Amino acid sequence: MPQGGRGQGVGGGGQGQGKGRMGGRGLGPDGDCRCPQCGHTMPHQAGVPCYQQTCPKCGSKMVRP
Ligand SMILES: [Zn+2]
Repeated sequence: MPQGGRGQGVGGGGQGQGKGRMGGRGLGPDGDCRCPQCGHTMPHQAGVPCYQQTCPKCGSKMVRP
């Protein structure tokens, strides 16, 4: 999926962003953001990186699983 473009290298080793992945389905391992603190998951919002979202339960930054 197309990512914003700023904030390069925040996630560390994110090399797997091939550009064949357009289309906005929220399914699959890339479709959710996960909280590393409490394990809460929420749907990834298009255009908003997981690390810019915060967990509604504990307020931690979400990560991609
Ligand atoms: Zn949490």
